[in-house]
Amino acid sequence: MRPLHALAFGALVLPLSAFAADPHSYAQPDQVRVTHLDLDLKVDFPHKQLDGQATLKLDWKDAKAQSLVLDTRDLKIASVEGIDAAGKASALKYALAPRDKELGSKLTIATPQHPAQVRIVYSTVPTASGLQWLTPEQTADQKLPFMFSQSESIHARSWVPLQDSPAIRFTYNAHVTAPKDVRVVMSALNDAKHPLNGDYAFAQPHPIPSYLLAIAAGDIAAKETGPRSAVYAEPSVVGKAAKEFEDTEKLIAATEKLYGPYAWDRYDLLVLPPSFPFGGMENPNMTFATPTLLVGDKSLVSVISHELAHSWSGNLVTSAAWRDIWLNEGFTTYVQGRITEAVYGKALADEEALISAHGLQKTVKTIPENAQRLAPKPGIGADDSISEVPYDKGSWFLRTLEERFGRETFDAYLKGYFAHFAFQSITTEQMLDYLKANLFDKNPGKMSWDEVKQWVYEPGIPKDAPLPDSPRFNAIDQERASFLAGSLAADKLDAKGWNTQEWMYFLDGLPDVTPLDKIKQIDAAWHLTGTPNAEIGMRWYSHAIAAGDKDVWSAAAEHMARIGRLYLTMPLYKTFAKTPEGLAYAEQVYAKARSGYHPMTQEAVEAVFAKARKNAGK
Ligand SMILES: [Zn+2]
Repeated sequence: MRPLHALAFGALVLPLSAFAADPHSYAQPDQVRVTHLDLDLKVDFPHKQLDGQATLKLDWKDAKAQSLVLDTRDLKIASVEGIDAAGKASALKYALAPRDKELGSKLTIATPQHPAQVRIVYSTVPTASGLQWLTPEQTADQKLPFMFSQSESIHARSWVPLQDSPAIRFTYNAHVTAPKDVRVVMSALNDAKHPLNGDYAFAQPHPIPSYLLAIAAGDIAAKETGPRSAVYAEPSVVGKAAKEFEDTEKLIAATEKLYGPYAWDRYDLLVLPPSFPFGGMENPNMTFATPTLLVGDKSLVSVISHELAHSWSGNLVTSAAWRDIWLNEGFTTYVQGRITEAVYGKALADEEALISAHGLQKTVKTIPENAQRLAPKPGIGADDSISEVPYDKGSWFLRTLEERFGRETFDAYLKGYFAHFAFQSITTEQMLDYLKANLFDKNPGKMSWDEVKQWVYEPGIPKDAPLPDSPRFNAIDQERASFLAGSLAADKLDAKGWNTQEWMYFLDGLPDVTPLDKIKQIDAAWHLTGTPNAEIGMRWYSHAIAAGDKDVWSAAAEHMARIGRLYLTMPLYKTFAKTPEGLAYAEQVYAKARSGYHPMTQEAVEAVFAKARKNAGK
């Protein structure tokens, strides 16, 4: 996750209409809306670019509209033409505004005749913020280059010119060519049996927001995991991935039982090379996932439950702007917990809910006040709105609603909510109106509306927010306390049977700076240095570095170089950056790892270094 920057609009009072528009898009959907996209692209590995054209079908809303305004970032536009209802094309005048650092370049196309379609011929640049180009050496099998997209939040505009706002939904078709041995996949219906002929066609028949546009190309094999699911990954990874995710059909069936039919037909998964900056990305029909989930014991499958849950919360019912992102992430984190409970049991679901809640309690004070609100006031950045708050505070709010209204009532309500708003993009206020009419007014006396307003519009976590009880975590709390007090030796910790979540919980509860001798004792007994489990590794190395244990530095460096997932690698950079010697070491690690990192990871690491150097007065 990216560090939050100072909020720009703190003292400004904006008119109410400004709250309704999406401040992260130049699009003017009240004048014209894109309803369908036809993409024709060539994947050009030697030049690290996508080359081709985008044809946008338009629905004119305002008879007086003079132009079509699109979002772009660093696109090279070759030509723009309008196509009338009879299919006749003619060149259109256009202007590309200077680049805004956050929003990119506004593309204004003169369209006084209101063409039925507009076609833009363009190519991307090698540094496109939404694409990563990997050399063969940066992949697992080292045979072919690899390319993948990450469009959320506002990066689709760096590879397709469009109205890049989650409020605008469109269907799409794509024709993509690539070198012959390369497989191309997209956030659409994919065919695992498609021959490797370098020529692919895709259809996404459901209207989706632009941040769910996705593409990947590389040495990709496929393996079925169920009647409507398959895993895609590099050939040496695909077998392991199919085993780790063999419960996919069980997860889909459990979610359908709770919230109604899966609306998208197939649910496939693509396991990416380790530089993928996130745990998973819910691209429709084809979740993109980090290989750090492949730990061999299914203990991190909850990330897949999370991405699958987005098929209801996020992809089906979508937040209309980045300010409302908790409608995607809070609801999804809640549904993820329910899937985990249904398939793997309540004990594990409660453990994950506690890790999420305790993590939020620990970090919430470091988050700027406005970003602590589920629905922040204007002025928050599109990527910066994605902190722990929408996920962990959002899901905590929904668990509170479930507790107050009872599971049966709340489940029926939520199922109705997904059906009511299916394939729509909505604001926090639309959700609240529906909540009031369909849950609160129908079941009076369970919870006050003031409490809802506090959860949604106030910073911090409401007092007495309910938490589940976990006997296993309670036992770990006692053992940790005895170990720290010196009455229990490290090798006497009852940790042999701890699952990943229990190790995470043990480590999360250690003091920020644990005495070095305690760190040494834990490692001697449990050999955490060098762990292949990156969730444990991230926590372990952070504690060991903070304690001053230089013996772990090289293993920590290996973890940082191997993993580009922000959540698992940034804490180590931040901990190293706290001392001058650590900072110098982290800079060396980064110099070697940089070329393998996603542009988002590069930007995040460089921001940590800049801040540390500034604090040191350099
Ligand atoms: Zn999510």
